[in-house]
Amino acid sequence: MKRKISLFLIAAAGLALLAACGSGKSETGSSAENNSGEQLQVVATNSIIADMAKEIGGDLIDLHSIVPVGTDPHEYEPLPQDIQKASEADVVLYNGLNLETGNGWFEKLMETAGKIEDTDYFAVSRTVTPMYLSGQESSHTEDPHAWLDISNGIAYSEEIARIFAEKDPDNGEKYLENSKAYTEKLSELDQTAKAEFADIPEDKRLLVTSEGAFKYFSKAYGLTAAYIWEINTESQGTPEQMKAIIDTVKSSDISSLFVETSVDARSMERLSKETGLPIYSKIFTDSVAEKGDDGDSYYTMMKWNLEKIHEGLSQ
Ligand SMILES: [Zn+2]
Repeated sequence: MKRKISLFLIAAAGLALLAACGSGKSETGSSAENNSGEQLQVVATNSIIADMAKEIGGDLIDLHSIVPVGTDPHEYEPLPQDIQKASEADVVLYNGLNLETGNGWFEKLMETAGKIEDTDYFAVSRTVTPMYLSGQESSHTEDPHAWLDISNGIAYSEEIARIFAEKDPDNGEKYLENSKAYTEKLSELDQTAKAEFADIPEDKRLLVTSEGAFKYFSKAYGLTAAYIWEINTESQGTPEQMKAIIDTVKSSDISSLFVETSVDARSMERLSKETGLPIYSKIFTDSVAEKGDDGDSYYTMMKWNLEKIHEGLSQ
């Protein structure tokens, strides 16, 4: 309850600040603005969804991404600027499928910002067929990491284009055109990877990461996913979890382990020491890379993941 009140106060302060600034937005015309004179105000919960929104919206949108690059989006404390941007937004995009539910941060943020589901905020995973944690099928146990299968990334992009076109019909054609070009590029990467993964021997098709984020990925590219903990919201690297994964790795024929950029690497380093296998590469799950580094977009992070995982499992 205390957190809710403090969020509300911050929101109120943010709105007061906005009012004090006056109606500056409509006076700052620029060539990037769309036909109706104003950019669509878009907020995305994380850097992956923000990157897709940028591909589809380009200069027609003004974009704010909430969870910083390299940070875990399962649990987060919104900053005053997140609350301000969410309050102003025409469209808020979130992953859904149980991603932003860790400490209920997203639901609280939408409540504070006065936003309504499917009117102001939208789950970009709407058309994806969910997979579940530990085989239990309920909305509380959906596995959020659908975007790691590129065909789901394509579904996200098409959904984003549909939402933008609905909110800004004057530019609807442009959003759909951008989405078409982008998803063609993604589809090509997906097909190439599927062909390449076919050459990995059966007994090396085990992908070991810290969080169990690679279920959708593994299904798409013919691998089995193993992990230390299943989802970032649970305890990470407990003795029971370590024992189970050490047994799994030791009874397999793999030569490489992988560690995600948005988790604490210590558990994977311990696993590496215990099993004598190297951590072949960092890979991306819940965030793109810092701007300017390899993997700083959804396309390049997936390209990196596919290349490194293919190389590592081929060892
Ligand atoms: Zn995750």
